[in-house]
Amino acid sequence: MTLRVYNSLTKKKEEFVPVEPGKVKMYVCGVTPYNHPHIGNARPFVTWDVIRRYLEHKDYAVYHIQNFTDVDDKIINAANAEGVTWDVIADRYIKAYFEVMDKLNIRRAHLYPTVSGHMAEITAMIEKLIADGYAYAVDGDVYYSVEKFADYGKLSGRSLDDMKAGARVDVDERKTHPMDFALWKSAKPGEPSWPSPWGLGRPGWHIECSAMSAKYLGHGFDFHGGGSDLVFPHHENEIAQSEAYAGGGPFVRYWLHNGFITVNEEKMSKSLGNFFLVKDILAHYPPEVLRFFILSTHYRSPLNFSDEQLAEAGRGLERLRAAVDNMKYLAGTTVARGASDASQALLAAAAQARADFDAAMDDDFNTALAISVLHGLAKEINIYYSAVMAGKAPVAGEAIASVQAAYYELADILGLLVAERMGSPDVVGAAPVQDTTAPALLDLIVEIRQEARAKKDWATADRIRDRLGELGYVIEDSPQGARWKKREV
Ligand SMILES: [Zn+2]
Repeated sequence: MTLRVYNSLTKKKEEFVPVEPGKVKMYVCGVTPYNHPHIGNARPFVTWDVIRRYLEHKDYAVYHIQNFTDVDDKIINAANAEGVTWDVIADRYIKAYFEVMDKLNIRRAHLYPTVSGHMAEITAMIEKLIADGYAYAVDGDVYYSVEKFADYGKLSGRSLDDMKAGARVDVDERKTHPMDFALWKSAKPGEPSWPSPWGLGRPGWHIECSAMSAKYLGHGFDFHGGGSDLVFPHHENEIAQSEAYAGGGPFVRYWLHNGFITVNEEKMSKSLGNFFLVKDILAHYPPEVLRFFILSTHYRSPLNFSDEQLAEAGRGLERLRAAVDNMKYLAGTTVARGASDASQALLAAAAQARADFDAAMDDDFNTALAISVLHGLAKEINIYYSAVMAGKAPVAGEAIASVQAAYYELADILGLLVAERMGSPDVVGAAPVQDTTAPALLDLIVEIRQEARAKKDWATADRIRDRLGELGYVIEDSPQGARWKKREV
């Protein structure tokens, strides 16, 4: 099956053809570490994590680079406000970034280059842009001359004439065009600075991503990602810098941008008081619920964040877990074994789910549809489970193993059901410790209740059922015996 992706540059879905067969190189714009990550930061990184997982599922060797903008006005302002140096702020919030992104089960990029670690590459790129006539130095600052780059505006669809007309009147007179942007800024008092051919200073925002992607991925790599708020000016300027530097294009083959996040249908902003930090959300909701919530909407669509939406995501995730519980119970039960029409139907459903899941993801990474495929498979598992529990079908070990493998593999592409997959041989990597004592204790309690029932001690049997009910567990009686289950929310 071929993967098709929506390319923001051409504004259409295109078949994905990698530069090098079997390999994918991707660059994702990272955060400016001056504060804890907010919900708007979580979306792109969950999105790109799933994109990478899916590409790896399709057997591509993915090389994933994501930067930290560790030299920036916001960091400098935060440092000055606290009376510390810029690197104290950057280090603190880089740690904070990893803390929450690890909780969200986002796999780490292969490399996280920083601006402060790439001054030589940045100044070398600026020098060449000046030498080639694309940039000019004035009073220790260096500007990119947008008029020199014929394709300026091709990503955002803006024309220079329109931009010029819309520019404010008080533009810097040293610039030849109002849209010219800074590649290098001369040092100001109270700011960190680095030496350069134009004197002490620091880079402008956009040049870092051109310099670092060129260093690690070369020119014309496969995917460049980020939030849609980065299309202009950041990515537009990256294209202008990189294509001028390399003497031609394309800089990137496929540009992918995720949509905005709104909070209770409003644009998120500090002034509206609806600015949510990921760590605060994780104090109220498990990280997997937030991850599930983000993936429940296609990455290009707007995503509305609200308590109701998160609660709904929690219920959706719980339905996926309930099917896992049923599978595990069937795998371990001692009732009669053997294939049946029902187990054949289950096998067919698992194969169909794999195909449907891939088809959804091949269509521009449609995680919303992929999740509904997984829910469909959960339903089939529950149908089979009910048939077995009603004594209408024996347990087919092979069908259970096969459907379990499919279910876990698909969940892993979405980075979900990590705890449930523990103990299954296909799971690798770090995982939360799971308490195995509680299930064993619950088994024991259900066993005692069965004994009470056998002795017609209804009072004890009912008391056990009622007390477990209060604790969130239901006991299911069937011709095949009794079992406990976590009550579905
Ligand atoms: Zn960038």
